[in-house]
Amino acid sequence: MDSVDRRDFMKTVAATAAASALDGNAAEADRARPIFLSTWAHGKPANERAAEVFKSSGSLLDAVEKGINVPENDPNVTSVGYGGLPNAEGVVELDAAIMDGTRHRTGSVCALRMIKNPISVARLVLERTSHTTLAGDGAFQFALKLGFEAQTLLTPQSLQKWLDWKANPQHKTYWLSAENHDTIGMVATDGNGHLVSGCSTSGAAFKIPGRVGDSPLVGCGVYADDNVGGASATGDGDLMTNYCTSVSIVHFMRRGASPQEACMELLKHMVETDGKNKDTQVGLIAMNKHGEIGAACMNEGFFLKYALWKDGQSQLLDSARLY
Ligand code: ASP
Repeated sequence: MDSVDRRDFMKTVAATAAASALDGNAAEADRARPIFLSTWAHGKPANERAAEVFKSSGSLLDAVEKGINVPENDPNVTSVGYGGLPNAEGVVELDAAIMDGTRHRTGSVCALRMIKNPISVARLVLERTSHTTLAGDGAFQFALKLGFEAQTLLTPQSLQKWLDWKANPQHKTYWLSAENHDTIGMVATDGNGHLVSGCSTSGAAFKIPGRVGDSPLVGCGVYADDNVGGASATGDGDLMTNYCTSVSIVHFMRRGASPQEACMELLKHMVETDGKNKDTQVGLIAMNKHGEIGAACMNEGFFLKYALWKDGQSQLLDSARLY
């Protein structure tokens, strides 16, 4: 922590602890019936860690943050954190957001380089600043100030994938079209009507430097409202940003749709507005304040598996699909 103001760091720890105390406590957590819902297979260990953290701390924000840290730290997950695939210049740029459904407040970071846990930086944007989003070098300097260590995020595997992409004369670039999506999104409840949503990603592989996807944008990659429910998304963020995916799902639920109906309604709306959206990569998860859940994807070509932790059981399940 050489370049770090230690007093600042201790204040951060205290601020986070105070937020955790507001967020819940371990005794209540023992009685509550939390539910953790995440995208993809890497969501399963994330949910399991989140459940452990919630049991010991009683804080749903801590639980979602620490749960999402699991795939961020895993070099074998090539779409999140350390080991995430880099941009077109071979540099890993990460996006993340966490939203507290009680306060209607989000912390998020975009295009963050060299810090493997963007969700934890996003959490501190939420707890320590009056801002919602920090981007690029500003987000990086903020992270350094709060004690995060700068490190290379390329692994031998992700470097090799980038070199292979570059060496292929036919390689696709985002000047024309896009592929390769796979974020971790998580929606969680404490079982008492409190919701938190979080999302973390390295974004579209080999993207144009500086590109920001849906994941760190409030209402797109995450949304949480204790009065209604929460949602998160995975897939083509360049497309989904235009549909404000997560807040749209929450608004559908607000009007009476179940989480599953709300996910399907959004997919149908996307196709009604543009028939070509049938063939796109879109995966959605949602939960209402009663703990009912929904998960759906657009088509078989981008088939969403989702992870559900409930009543001590951790499962990987198939989502519904529109096509
Ligand atoms: N939605 C993310 C993005 O476009 C990627 C993903 O979910 O896989 O950045």
